Amino acid sequence: MGNEAIGRGIVECGCALATSYPGTPASEILEAVATFAAEARQPMHIEWSVNEKVAYEVALAASYTGKRVAVSMKQVGLNVASDPFMRSAYLGVKGGFLLVSADDPGPHSSQTEQDSRFFAMFAKIPVLDPSSPREAKEMVRLALELSEAYEIPVMLRPTTRVCHARQAVPLLEPEGGTRTARFEKDPKRWCATPRFVLDLHRGLTGKLERLASDPRLVPTFYPGDGTRPRTCIIASGVSFAHTWDVLDELELTGTVDRYHVKAPFPLAAAFIERVRAVYDRVLVIEETYPVIELQLRDQRIAGRVSRLVPNEGELTPEIIREVLAAFLGLAVSPPTPGVLRPPGARPTLCAGCGHRAAYYAIRQSFPGGIFPGDIGCYTLGMNLEAVDTVHCMGAGISQAAGFYHAYAQDAAPVPTIVATIGDSTFFHSGVPALVNAVSQKARIIVVILDNATTAMTGHQPTPQLGITATGGQGKPVLIRDLVLASGVSFLREAKAYDIERFTATLKEADGHCRSSDGGVAVVIASSPCVLAESVPAGTPRAVRITEDCSGCRECLDMFECPALVWDDEAGRVGVSRALCAECGVCLAVCPTQAIVADDGEVA
Ligand code: SF4
Ligand code: SF4
Repeated sequence: MGNEAIGRGIVECGCALATSYPGTPASEILEAVATFAAEARQPMHIEWSVNEKVAYEVALAASYTGKRVAVSMKQVGLNVASDPFMRSAYLGVKGGFLLVSADDPGPHSSQTEQDSRFFAMFAKIPVLDPSSPREAKEMVRLALELSEAYEIPVMLRPTTRVCHARQAVPLLEPEGGTRTARFEKDPKRWCATPRFVLDLHRGLTGKLERLASDPRLVPTFYPGDGTRPRTCIIASGVSFAHTWDVLDELELTGTVDRYHVKAPFPLAAAFIERVRAVYDRVLVIEETYPVIELQLRDQRIAGRVSRLVPNEGELTPEIIREVLAAFLGLAVSPPTPGVLRPPGARPTLCAGCGHRAAYYAIRQSFPGGIFPGDIGCYTLGMNLEAVDTVHCMGAGISQAAGFYHAYAQDAAPVPTIVATIGDSTFFHSGVPALVNAVSQKARIIVVILDNATTAMTGHQPTPQLGITATGGQGKPVLIRDLVLASGVSFLREAKAYDIERFTATLKEADGHCRSSDGGVAVVIASSPCVLAESVPAGTPRAVRITEDCSGCRECLDMFECPALVWDDEAGRVGVSRALCAECGVCLAVCPTQAIVADDGEVA
């Protein structure tokens, strides 16, 4: 798998430290590092940091000691890490510093399909764009070597199709950690005040100019046979692999000059000159923004700026086929049926998930409420009409406070405002938002959905569990301690499965918000993820549907447990025994009480 290949490369190159915050499509990189480092008995510090900014800063300081390091994240994680990222370009590094920022064109599981290569250009650092798992692993070594040669962070930018593709990849012996830490103090550099920043910026520009002439970054040239003179196709990343495949399919390989760009920024200076001098017609295929195209700065280029290549969405082989046909003047047959897949069923929370119970209670308790949500599997609360906004990690609490301050200025009553946030997201960036809401006297309810894991990205541990990335013992940091330390005066812990008591807790929290000395009320809703194997099963409460079911579909449309299914034959709802987790929450849902505990009697 591409992410495993990257993880293997990090270990083989003798990195002493690897950090990350989980996020699709990058999550498996750190897990692979942990696996391969253990196999090689290579001493490494490997950590799931609380967020990407922290992960970046931890790795940066370790690089200052001369050791090789790697930090990995998904593309929106780089937004979180952008502050240390931007400055690290100016100050540079000592030991090789590899930043892996995995992009998600499409997007498949992200709130944007932003192009990290643009971020590299913005920060003025080099970026490598792998087209396959094998190349991704090779580029880990190149990135670390370039980083040390130029004392600059180097980005590796795989996309989902590289991260999750599988390929046979040759393995090398891990180098082992042979370096000892040695931090050389240099305040003008490591503490650079604005007085020194201008010089550092000049130095950075000089590094980029030298990198643009580095022979290792020159695109690979595949000459055509002259059939299509003064015409070339330039591609990078997985788009390169797709483009070459489609040309093969059309039996056009070898008829046109082709270039494979491995380092989209800085683009090799000699390459830019050559393209301008030799070709009249140029097609650039890259994901997701026109990084190569803009550096070529040529009006004759066909690409995203000319709109021959779509400016949004993933460049699938089908789209590339159409682009090539338009550029080369070919008549191509329409895509074969079945290539374009119809949209699937919308995702929903798992059967028995405690988040569903919490959301059901929130919506039932506050029909006119406003419900800012957050990023995680619990975002799916929007299906239950209990999540009204989703922006970015940690934004739910800040947005709840924003809603409160907007409404509180008016003479009208303030609606109940309930923010929901997962446990991992709370550690990631919920804490500063909570401190802010408390200090600014917002009157909001914050429900922390604690399922004891980072579920959506593959069950990485949260700081509360006290488990490290390598499975060792860490020191638990408790959510309740952080909540109390944030100045919150109303804190309750409740099991969402007990809807009656949970609802009463929510009402009590609302009362606190509206009391004369009220403020932020926090409810920690603990319900371990039903997919986590280590979680002990609760008291099972099997259910069945009686003939009182009127077929109103309330339980299907507003509760949406996948174990509740429409039975055409019976003309009413039934329970899928294969899916039902026997949580018993649906017992509270049916308006005609047709969902009852299964006591073994036939209805
Ligand atoms: S089980 Fe109850 S809620 Fe579901 S369709 Fe039947 S009557 Fe409606
Ligand atoms: S008991 Fe009800 S809510 Fe729980 S999993 Fe089964 S059908 Fe779904």
